[in-house]
Amino acid sequence: MRLAFLFSIFIFQNSFSQEKSTPKLVVGIVVDQMCYDYLYRYLERYGEGGIKRLMNQGTNCRTTMYNYVPTYTGPGHASIYTGTTPENHGIVGNEWYDRLTKKEVNCVQDDKVQTVGAVSLEGKCAPTRLKVMTITDQLKMTYPNAKVISMSIKNRGAILPGGHLSDGTYWFDYTSGDFITSTFYMQTLPSWVSNFNKQDYPQKFLKETWNTLYDIKTYTASGKDDSPYEHLLPGKTTPTFPYNLKEMSKDSNNFDLFTTTPFADNFLTDFALGAIKNESLGRDNQTDFLAISYSTPDIIGHEFGPQSIEIEDTYLRLDKDIERLLNALDTQVGKGKYMLFITADHAVVPVPQLLVDQKLPGGYVYLDLPLKQLKQKLITKFGFNYIKDQTNLNIYLNDSLLSAQGADKNAIAEFIKQDIASWKGVKRACTSQELQSSALNDFWIEKIKRGFNKTESGDVIFMLESGYLPKYAPTATSGRGTSHGSGYSYDSHVPLIWFGANIPKKDVFRDVEIIDIVPTLAHIMNLSFPSAVTGKPIVEVLGK
Ligand code: ZN
Ligand code: ZN
Ligand code: ZN
Repeated sequence: MRLAFLFSIFIFQNSFSQEKSTPKLVVGIVVDQMCYDYLYRYLERYGEGGIKRLMNQGTNCRTTMYNYVPTYTGPGHASIYTGTTPENHGIVGNEWYDRLTKKEVNCVQDDKVQTVGAVSLEGKCAPTRLKVMTITDQLKMTYPNAKVISMSIKNRGAILPGGHLSDGTYWFDYTSGDFITSTFYMQTLPSWVSNFNKQDYPQKFLKETWNTLYDIKTYTASGKDDSPYEHLLPGKTTPTFPYNLKEMSKDSNNFDLFTTTPFADNFLTDFALGAIKNESLGRDNQTDFLAISYSTPDIIGHEFGPQSIEIEDTYLRLDKDIERLLNALDTQVGKGKYMLFITADHAVVPVPQLLVDQKLPGGYVYLDLPLKQLKQKLITKFGFNYIKDQTNLNIYLNDSLLSAQGADKNAIAEFIKQDIASWKGVKRACTSQELQSSALNDFWIEKIKRGFNKTESGDVIFMLESGYLPKYAPTATSGRGTSHGSGYSYDSHVPLIWFGANIPKKDVFRDVEIIDIVPTLAHIMNLSFPSAVTGKPIVEVLGK
C-alpha cells in the first residue's frame, strides 16, 4: 500500500511538472495545396534538416482529413485555426455571394479598413467575416502579453490564422511588392517590416532564373517537363525549365510571376526569420505564436498539377526553407523549447485531362449550358429566372424577386435541385432546407452539412462525381492545370506533423480531422478551447 501511495505521488508530480511547461513559441505552418503523398514521393530527395527531420522526430498523423466540403483556402485556414467547420466559422469559400450587399464578396474583404504600408487597395482586409474565435484569439485573450504574428503571400492565408487580436498580420501586396497590413490591426508598419520592404527582394528575384535545384534527369517522381497538362506561363511557349523571369516579365514589377516561383517561399521564409528576431518571439516564459502560410505551392500547383517537375522542385526548395526556419528556431528559441506543426489547407486533384487520358474516372463538368437551360426552365415553369448567383457549386436565389412575386421559395429550390441532380457528373444535390433538417444524412451529406452555413451558403448545393472539376465552358486550355474544392480524398487527405517541445516521436494511423488541431494546441498551451471547437484533442500528440 505504501508503495502504491508513493507511486501515485510520483505519477502525480511527474504529470504535474510536465503539464506546467508550455513551449516558448508555437509555430503553425500551412503549406497551401500540399498533398499527403508529397511527404513520401519526395522523401529520398529531402535533406536531413527539413521535412525529413520533422517526420523522423515528430508525431506524424497520417490519416488527417478535411471533414467538410468545400476544400478551399479560406475555409481550410479558418478550420485549422478555429477547430470547427464552415457551418460555425462562416468562411464557406474564398468568395461567395453575400445576401446583405447582394454582391460576391471575398472571405477577408473589409471595405471599412485601409491599407497600411503601401498606396494600394489590397489592404482592405480583416477577419471580419470570421464568426468564431481562433486559437490565436484565445491565446491573446488569456495572456495579453503573448505575441501573435501571422504572415502569408495570400491575404486570407495570413488573416484567418492571425485572428482578431494579432500583434501583426502581414500579406503580400501585388501592387507594390511589399508586405502590408490594414488599419484593423495597426496604423503604421513596425520599422523592421518597412526596412524589410526597402530591400525590394521581389524586384531582385525577378531578375533571376528558376531552374531545377538538381539535374532535371533526376526528377523521376514526376512526369515529363514538356507536358500537355501544364499551363504556359505568360512569356513562355513551352511549360519547361528554365524559367528566365527577366525575359518572361515585361516589367520589373511582375509580382504575379514572382509568386508563381519558389523564390516567393524564400522571401516569406526571410520575412519569418525577421519576425522571430525583431519581435523577439519565444524569448520569455509566455508562449508566443507564429503562423506562416506558404501560398506559392498552391499557385504553382494550379498551373502545373501534382505530377509536374515544377511542383517537385517547389517542394525540394521548400524543404530547404523549412530547414532554414528550424535552424533559426534552434539557435534563437532553443531546441526543444518551441513546438511546430505543419499541415495543408486542402490538397488537389491530378489534372483531370490526365485522368481522362489514362482511362481513370474523372474529367470536367461544364456548367454554362445546363445552367442556361435551367434558367429557361424556371421562366417557363415559374414565370421568372429566380437564380441570382452561382458560385462554389452553390445556387443563390433572388430573394427580393421571390418576395416581390410572393413565390414559393422551397418549391423553386426543390425544382432546381432535381434538375441539377440529373446533370451528367453530379453526384449529390440538396436544398438548404434539407441541410437544416436532420432527416437527410449520409457520408457526403454530412460533409456538405459541416461546410454549410445557413446565412452564407446557397439555397441549393451540389457536388460532382470523383475526379471531376467544374468549368463554365470548354476552352483551349481546359485540359491544363488543376484545382480543388471537393470532399474526395485527393482534396481532403493532408499532412499533419507535430514537432518539438514535449512532442513524442510516433506515427498515428487512426482517423484525425483537421478540426482536431485546435483542441490539441489548446492543451499544449494550457488554454480553454476557443469559442466553437467541434474537434477532439489528438491525445497521441500530448504523449498519451
Ligand atoms: Zn489553398
Ligand atoms: Zn513543365
Ligand atoms: Zn488553390
